[in-house]
Amino acid sequence: MRMWKVNPLLMCDQHLLGEHVELHMFAGTINKGISLEGYIHNGLVETNQIRKRHRELVKEMIRRGMNHKSELPSFKIARQGRINIKENIKELSRRCNKCNERIKSVGKNESKNILCCYYCNA
Ligand SMILES: [Zn+2]
Ligand SMILES: [Zn+2]
Repeated sequence: MRMWKVNPLLMCDQHLLGEHVELHMFAGTINKGISLEGYIHNGLVETNQIRKRHRELVKEMIRRGMNHKSELPSFKIARQGRINIKENIKELSRRCNKCNERIKSVGKNESKNILCCYYCNA
């Protein structure tokens, strides 16, 4: 499970849907009382951003004509974890041709800010 936290516009459909499912899995894991310590330690999740990130991804999924039916369940967890968004953008570029194409073209055509995270800019 992994929260990429990069601008959803930079992500291909598969990675967008994948992260979305994984956010539901994070919520499920928390509600089962299973520790997220390894994910937190490895910079794979920011616990206080799960709900906000889910909203962002759903917004982008709907914009792309995808369905979203299951609400994220409620869950409680202390604020933990730190994600390196710039590193994650590089990693998506390396791992996935489709993400890489989006990252390059969005970077060219739109403001530079988009490559930094828009949560940070807010
Ligand atoms: Zn959802
Ligand atoms: Zn991708």
